Amino acid sequence: MSLFDWFANRQKTEPAIQPRPEREIADGLWTKCSQCGVLAYTKDLQANQMVCLECGHHMRTNSHERIQQLIDPQTWTPLYEGVQPIDPLNFRDRKAYTDRLREMQAKTGLTDAVQTGTGTIDGLPVALGVMDFRFMGGSMGSVVGEKLCRLIEYGSHEGLTVVIICASGGARMQEGMLSLMQMAKISGALERHQAAGLLYIPVLTHPTTGGVTASFAMLGDIILAEPGATIGFAGRRVIEQTLREKLPEDFQTSEYLLQCGFVDAIVPRTQLQKTLASLIRLHQPGSPPSAEPPPSDSNSQHHSPDTHAHLLPPTPQS
Ligand SMILES: [Zn+2]
Repeated sequence: MSLFDWFANRQKTEPAIQPRPEREIADGLWTKCSQCGVLAYTKDLQANQMVCLECGHHMRTNSHERIQQLIDPQTWTPLYEGVQPIDPLNFRDRKAYTDRLREMQAKTGLTDAVQTGTGTIDGLPVALGVMDFRFMGGSMGSVVGEKLCRLIEYGSHEGLTVVIICASGGARMQEGMLSLMQMAKISGALERHQAAGLLYIPVLTHPTTGGVTASFAMLGDIILAEPGATIGFAGRRVIEQTLREKLPEDFQTSEYLLQCGFVDAIVPRTQLQKTLASLIRLHQPGSPPSAEPPPSDSNSQHHSPDTHAHLLPPTPQS
């Protein structure tokens, strides 16, 4: 037997080295943190609201989980679930927009990129909108705009605090102008909500960009953000190329925006429910801080809530 044949025989008889089974990771039993690389038991992570137990990195979470994290059990009532997307421009890129929508609906169990409804947070009633990044990058089309607009109007009518959890890549290009006009439409509804002396709190999560940042994400009475979230309008590269300047490392993060005054507080996800409850409670009529008359020389950036507005009958909305 030649040396060559001997090697050939050996390769046939010896079992090939089996790759280590990665079934457990594929099954979702374990989740790897993209920040520190530590593997965590997914159930433990879920119990900690998808915040890494090792480094505190906030992993992505969907709208169903968000509602569970924030709203008291058995108090969630979904609103406007019948608002369905259509394809007004007959848009097609690599795929027809209608096919894309159908696929996303099957994958996420949602009709579009936002869930809206009412419920209580620590016993306090709120109107809550939660965007879902899984649905076409949380892009804002006519359905997102319409559902949020109706939610805000419902909140104004019923005298409820409105909370919107933002997660979006921006306006939905497949609907062109119709998605861009949602920015103004939602801003108008928020203006009327504010005129009624009611509270609106947006929570900016990773990522909040484009048309959402340019409208309702930045129009809150109090703007909260999750740690390490990317928040911006245009992308970093576009700005660098336009300005011909190198931007700081932490540019467009929650932390950078807090420093610059765009965000009022960074709240870890595990503290969000408690923080929202405190803010809503402070804003309620008769609570100690609002019982004091507002100082006349106040130059606060935020609007002092008009506590008497709560006592007036709600203005019917058209
Ligand atoms: Zn980690």
